[in-house]
Amino acid sequence: MPGWTISFSYLLASILFILAIRGLASPRTAKNGNLAGIAGMVIAVAATFGSPDVKEYLLILAVLIAGGIIGTFSALKVKMTALPQMIAAFNGLGGLAAVFISLSEVTAGNPTRLESSLGLVIGAIAFSGSMIAFAKLQGLMPARALLLPFRRSINLGLALATVLLCLFFIKEGQTNTFYTLAALSVLLGILLILPIGGADMPVVISILNAYSGWAAVAVGFSLNNILLIITGALVGASGSILSYIMVKAMNRSLLGVMLGGFGAEASTITESENKTLAARAGSPRDAAFIMENATKVIIVPGYGMAAAQAQHVLKEMADDLRQRYDVDVRFAIHPVAGRMPGHMNVLLAEANVPYENVFELEDINREFATADVAYVIGANDITNPLAKTAPDSPIYGMPVLEVEKAKTVFFVKRSLASGYAGVENPLFYADNTIMLYGDAKEVTAEIVSVLEEK
Ligand code: NDP
Repeated sequence: MPGWTISFSYLLASILFILAIRGLASPRTAKNGNLAGIAGMVIAVAATFGSPDVKEYLLILAVLIAGGIIGTFSALKVKMTALPQMIAAFNGLGGLAAVFISLSEVTAGNPTRLESSLGLVIGAIAFSGSMIAFAKLQGLMPARALLLPFRRSINLGLALATVLLCLFFIKEGQTNTFYTLAALSVLLGILLILPIGGADMPVVISILNAYSGWAAVAVGFSLNNILLIITGALVGASGSILSYIMVKAMNRSLLGVMLGGFGAEASTITESENKTLAARAGSPRDAAFIMENATKVIIVPGYGMAAAQAQHVLKEMADDLRQRYDVDVRFAIHPVAGRMPGHMNVLLAEANVPYENVFELEDINREFATADVAYVIGANDITNPLAKTAPDSPIYGMPVLEVEKAKTVFFVKRSLASGYAGVENPLFYADNTIMLYGDAKEVTAEIVSVLEEK
């Protein structure tokens, strides 16, 4: 393929990637965004195949087919609720690819030491950090913060040693130094993510995503591949912006999360005086009666709604209340509800809930005070008032949906168990709370059948 064709293809692929990210910014345009991304990737791979630098066609083809099969299989098989760990694993693989490319550049004696060492360090941290995030999210290790003594000093010391070793490698270029740098960076990635637990995992996944992008940029410079630089920069920049938005939404500091264990010192708060209190339970029939006589109902979906796949029946409940009983029904979305950014928006969009009925935290919070009912379905941490009142809680400082201000609060969940952050929710025992025990989909379906009786 002539040089200009490759350059033109790279330019076209870059434009398609930019359109993809733009499209993915809203559920309305996400499908087209995805298609643009696929088209860009096909063009990028085809152009790379045509490049005169590529000699090992068979090997690349074999790896491409194997990777394609694994990717397709994982995408088809993964449950919606397990997407965050899949994202974490794929981020990690991006980082690992950067590590291998940097290693091959250095062992081949190519003189791009600065770029290679940056690709190696960022890629290795993204790889090992993502593996720990994956293990935590998949339940292969405890999700809570694991706090080593002196962890901040150790991490700071390791980070300093990594920088010094990088400089040494850039000056001397010894391969052994490069291997030591790889080991040190892998260790740093593990130690940085181990102390992060509870509610801070979404931010971590987003930061690691940005890392894998920046690693690709470094590798792109080392290979002198303009498309890799552009694509890496897109991933790095969008990941960084998302991290910033999430850090702000969670009321955290980026440095606090990165140094590890923000607010995690007291992650053992599970016992409380609530044990002596009793939670009041109700039936779907009670809930239907109270909601059909309400003027305003706010629905708060969380991870349990996703796990139960209750979004369709929830939409049915909202439609019944609105159409049959003239109730003002709104949906309230917390920025970290569920297990991935935008998790609830995606599910509600899938169930065709109109966008104008869906409100973000800052737009809906003041509405609870005038609501008759807050219907909290499979959500827990995102409503926990300890985030406002208990400085030693791991969720302290995170903004929450103030459901307790509604006249009646229904919590639809299977038990009084805590949520992802492992913190007990005192709202279960509040005077205006009624627990609706059971699977989110089943309970809501029963409410719908009562609403439709008349
Ligand atoms: P939580 O994890 O706090 O609570 C979910 C609740 O759903 C659980 O307490 C559980 O209670 C209940 N539940 C589970 N399955 C069902 C079911 N089938 N039917 C009914 N209820 C069910 O979720 P939230 O959405 O409130 O908060 C999200 C949490 O996840 C935050 O801590 C956030 O930081 C974290 N997180 C968020 C990510 C993101 O990007 N959005 C990524 C990673 C973590 P029970 O067992 O009693 O049924």
